[in-house]
Amino acid sequence: MSGRWNNSVGGGAHLVSAAIVGTHQGSNGHALHAPVLVLNASYEPINVCAARRAIVLVLKGVAMTEEENGHFLHAARLAIRVPSVIRLLEYRRIPHQSRALSRKNILLRDRNTCQYCGEVLPSSELTLDHVAPRSRGGASTWENLVACCHPCNRQKGNQLPAEAGMKLLREPRAFNLHTSRHIMRLMGRSDDKWRKYLFY
Ligand SMILES: [Zn+2]
Repeated sequence: MSGRWNNSVGGGAHLVSAAIVGTHQGSNGHALHAPVLVLNASYEPINVCAARRAIVLVLKGVAMTEEENGHFLHAARLAIRVPSVIRLLEYRRIPHQSRALSRKNILLRDRNTCQYCGEVLPSSELTLDHVAPRSRGGASTWENLVACCHPCNRQKGNQLPAEAGMKLLREPRAFNLHTSRHIMRLMGRSDDKWRKYLFY
């Protein structure tokens, strides 16, 4: 999804954007990473991105701020209000499978839960397990990769789950818009500004 936005945004406001993107440290650091809810032009929630990206989208005229989070970002002699919710100005058709296959997204989909023993762990203590092992032709796909703790990964080794006497908590699926929306709702449950866009 983000790739599409990248392709479509023009070069306007790029100096300010560069100043923001270059602002990695100091008091701006935290503000830049605050999660921002992204709405389609139709107000349908479609994604969560970091504040830095949201501000760039607003400055480039691709999106507008719907809600602010009350903080300011200081860049290039400007004080910019940090958004909490932004909305794209043009409607984007969301591709069926909207997330890149990555370790981060697999862990997000599986909610940092080992898919064999059910333990919830920090990302650093989880690995990715190929359900059908690579050595036996298993592919690196959404449907064949799951979050897995190290002990379960060792126990499973080069076997299929059934051969190792193990069972998946649930069938791994592609991270589609439905999954994204579920996660957006989990994230937005405690945020008043997000809630009205997520629960309807
Ligand atoms: Zn485990």
